[in-house]
Amino acid sequence: MSTPSSTTKDASAFSDGTTDYVPLRGDTKAKVKTHQAKIHISDQPVTWSNWHQHINWLNSTLVVFIPLIGFVAAYWVPLRLYTGIWAFVYYFNSGLAITAGYHRLWSHSAYKGSTPLKIYLAACGAGAVEGSIRWWSYGHRVHHRYTDTDKDPYSVRKGLFYSHIGWIVFKQNPKAQGRTDITDLNEDPIVLWQHKNYIKSVLVMAFAFPCVVAGLGWGDWWGGFVYAGILRVCFIQQATFCINSLAHWLGDQPFDDRNSPRDHYITAFVTLGEGYHNFHHEFPSDYRNAIEWYQYDPTKWFIWCWKQVGLAHDLKQFRANEIEKGRVQQMQKKLDQKRATLDWGIPLEQLPVIDWEDFVADSKDGKALVTIAGVIHDIGDFIKDHPGGKALINSAIGKDATAIFNGGVYNHSNAAHNLLSTMRVGILRGGCEVEVWKRAQFENKDVTYMNDSVGHRINRAGTQVTKIVQPVASADAA
Ligand SMILES: [Zn+2]
Ligand SMILES: [Zn+2]
Repeated sequence: MSTPSSTTKDASAFSDGTTDYVPLRGDTKAKVKTHQAKIHISDQPVTWSNWHQHINWLNSTLVVFIPLIGFVAAYWVPLRLYTGIWAFVYYFNSGLAITAGYHRLWSHSAYKGSTPLKIYLAACGAGAVEGSIRWWSYGHRVHHRYTDTDKDPYSVRKGLFYSHIGWIVFKQNPKAQGRTDITDLNEDPIVLWQHKNYIKSVLVMAFAFPCVVAGLGWGDWWGGFVYAGILRVCFIQQATFCINSLAHWLGDQPFDDRNSPRDHYITAFVTLGEGYHNFHHEFPSDYRNAIEWYQYDPTKWFIWCWKQVGLAHDLKQFRANEIEKGRVQQMQKKLDQKRATLDWGIPLEQLPVIDWEDFVADSKDGKALVTIAGVIHDIGDFIKDHPGGKALINSAIGKDATAIFNGGVYNHSNAAHNLLSTMRVGILRGGCEVEVWKRAQFENKDVTYMNDSVGHRINRAGTQVTKIVQPVASADAA
């Protein structure tokens, strides 16, 4: 029963009733150490004394040191033709196991695979040395859920290097990463078996198997180990890392540009078709990454072939209608941004309202003013450039030229209406439709024109305020 008495004693030592006593002097070093131990190493600055603690040595060995050994060893081990072909064939198979297996099958459930196909993908996937299916898919689902945020395990917002390899070779605070659901993967016996036997699977599939094939096949044990083993692994790892770095940095964004994923054929070429990443982040459960026939997506072609021979089924595909909607919306957004950069003339609601008498008086005073459809334009700087000559345009000064501009003398082009809008300086008072419209706009009722997504008015061809659909000239003919 010593606790209550000591609590009482401590409490009495502090006027605010604080009971956890932290001495300000004494064993300061030990205190600082305890405090730092609570802060995860990734949240501490890199110093000469702690840099080695920042490095994830196991991961660094697998993605940096072993590949370096491979490159050095290649100096003494000549590359033989059969070994080169075998390394490439196995590269393609283990790469496909990542893209079609780890990614599209297990991370996104974009299709269902038969047991033999899943065993093949899990085995070759282990040969790529990118972690177990369970670990890889968990991180990838988090990446999709929290793209570009601090919870994204390989957010490109932290830099291209970080998103490519930095997040692997440096220790990460597991609490900083977002969470996701992998219940389905925890129920998949192949996923669980591979996770439990991961290191053994890597040793066999990444190094022993390619070495034995080349050794027993054509007697090139060392070549098989160095080229089809170590260096092949290095190239697959770097190719996969490109999906996290390059595919979030290089290319177009045809579906949505609010996040970083991008489409580019170079990334697609490097990653067996995973480079259409803007599409993929929009439609992640689609078994395709490329939707056009001419785009390079061998992963999609293989999944489709597996379906034809009964190894895969339930291939998921978004309707073209949904895909086109996304594409059109993004095009609209780009169009709005482009429109905002152009001079469409002073908005009508910002123009002063001018009386007819003032308009006439100003014109007589030497201003080159012309009224068209109730809008007053100052054409002074344009007279010399008028394609129809000076005489005709001069004759309109100080007058209402609505009819002659809209067909009475010449039915002006769409471009002419656009150009005219940049010259407008006022709105004519007195019974004009434009003024009525302006008042309605001012009172904010029954506004019928269209605004774009950033609030700018859309001026469609043929709907300019100066355009009169029925030429007034027809009245003369009657
Ligand atoms: Zn991504
Ligand atoms: Zn994905």
